[in-house]
Amino acid sequence: MFASYLKQVEHCAVCGEAWGHIRADDAPPWLTILIVGHILVPPAIAVEAWELWPGWVSMTLWPALALALSLLILPRAKGLFIAAIWKTRAPGSEQSNP
Ligand SMILES: [Zn+2]
Repeated sequence: MFASYLKQVEHCAVCGEAWGHIRADDAPPWLTILIVGHILVPPAIAVEAWELWPGWVSMTLWPALALALSLLILPRAKGLFIAAIWKTRAPGSEQSNP
């Protein structure tokens, strides 16, 4: 079930469609950084302007939230790009199309 965190399955368990050859490359991390940044930076700037807590809390809280959100979003972003590559019939692999 949860064989790998980021490695996509070779084939669909239902219909056998091949997924293993599709490469999303740098797109999933790019989207993850974009989303995590837009979620965390505005509240961080807003909260830090008030100086509600000591500096070590900020130095722990924001990176921990960024890490947790990134780990949550990254595999979903990869799935999204693999699905988009598959749907648009883009090659999405190192080999040229036959
Ligand atoms: Zn399928």
